[in-house]
Amino acid sequence: MFAHVGGFAYLRGAKSPFLRKAVIKFMYAREEMNEKKVLKRPLLGMTLDELKGVAAEVGLPAFAAKQMVGWVYQKGVADIDEMTNLSKVARERLKESYEVGRTAPLAEQHSKDGTSKYLFATREGGRVETVFIPDDDRGTICVSCQVGCKMACRFCATGQQGFQGQLSTTDILNQIS
Ligand code: SF4
Repeated sequence: MFAHVGGFAYLRGAKSPFLRKAVIKFMYAREEMNEKKVLKRPLLGMTLDELKGVAAEVGLPAFAAKQMVGWVYQKGVADIDEMTNLSKVARERLKESYEVGRTAPLAEQHSKDGTSKYLFATREGGRVETVFIPDDDRGTICVSCQVGCKMACRFCATGQQGFQGQLSTTDILNQIS
């Protein structure tokens, strides 16, 4: 919000189109930074040992880490409030610094042959696609592990984006869970 207020103030004084473009770019970069600052740490992607560390940090017994594993990796919850075998107080403490980190796709497309394509937002604000291809006795999932691609094949939209970075464990697991 402040980025926009400040940005528009700058924008009014920026007469050259080149400068206006630079100011707009700056405004969005600052907004993105502000969004990143409020992101909580995701539990999805953590190992049992890391979850034990989280439990200790928020004053929970070590066995709470196994309970979190069950909720995050077996039951596939998207919200800490769904972890109902943790007390309400424990969940509130967890929520101060953590979140599950599981998000629904932004969009999906389904073709007649059963192939489905899903668009996910990454935690850094990028966009990646996941494809599920069914077969008679099995299914294949094509999972993204990076945003963009260095290969730049001319026929491919992803290649035209350039390489924008590797995905975190959370972003990779979010595509299949
Ligand atoms: S540019 Fe596209 S087609 Fe080429 S390697 Fe990368 S993802 Fe594959």
